[in-house]
Order: sequence, then C-alpha cells, then structure tokens
Amino acid sequence: MAYDDQNVFAKILRGEIPCKKVYEDEFALAFHDINPMAPVHVLVIPKGPYVSFADFAREADAETVAGFFQAVNTTARELGLDPQGYRILANHGPTARQEVQHFHVHIFGGTDLGPMISRVGG
Ligand code: AMP
Repeated sequence: MAYDDQNVFAKILRGEIPCKKVYEDEFALAFHDINPMAPVHVLVIPKGPYVSFADFAREADAETVAGFFQAVNTTARELGLDPQGYRILANHGPTARQEVQHFHVHIFGGTDLGPMISRVGG
C-alpha cells in the first residue's frame, strides 16, 4: 500500500492539526491518544512516511529503527510507567483493524492491564 500523506498522523507531524505532545526527538513524536483505552494511552510515531510495522521494518534503515524504539522506551520512562509496567502494541493491516495508515506503537499503562488479549476466533 502506498503512503497517503493526508492521513491524520502525517497532518500532526506537519503541525496541521494539534496533538497533546509527550516526547519528541529526531526519530519520533509521542502524543496522547484522542480516545484513550487506559489511564495512560500514548502513541509513538516515526517521522518518516511508513504505512505500518511491516513497511517500517522493510524500508527504514537500522539507525531509524533503533532510534524509533529508543524513543518508545524514553516515552514510557518519561511517563513514569517504569518499573511498574506497561504494554506496547502495533496494529498492522485489516485483521488487526489498523485505522491510521502511518506506523504507530500504542503504549498503555497506569493500571493493571489485565490479560494480554481477549480470546478471539477459533
Ligand atoms: P490503530 O487502530 O492502531 O490504527 O489506532 C489508531 C489510533 O489513533 C486510535 O487509538 C485513535 O483513537 C487514535 N487517533 C486517531 N486520530 C487521532 C488524533 N487526531 N490524535 C490522537 N490520536 C488519534
């Protein structure tokens, strides 16, 4: 799938729509999810045009991948989620119901998060 630069996270990166920023560096921007599913629910996005996890893993160079995941770690630490814990999640594609076609990692925390995932399918 080609990257669509009109997706909502591309607009946030360009400053065309606001976000509640948590952390930013040369590799990533982190901001609060508009529809939080936990007391802490933050999204971390790379600055480059990657549709999803698979696109990012395939196309980004090693420095970009490392920098992005370091930014996820820094964001979680700055949110005060370490050492008590948090969960990270990335939806890739239709069966995962990825809504925004710009790669992002969700960080959930601030409470006991329960089981990893509710049982689905057969
Ligand atoms: P996903 O299903 O993994 O693509 O998740 C997309 C997430 O983006 C959802 O949790 C939405 O609530 C969140 N979201 C959509 N628009 C915005 C926005 N303008 N600011 C912050 N979060 C957003």
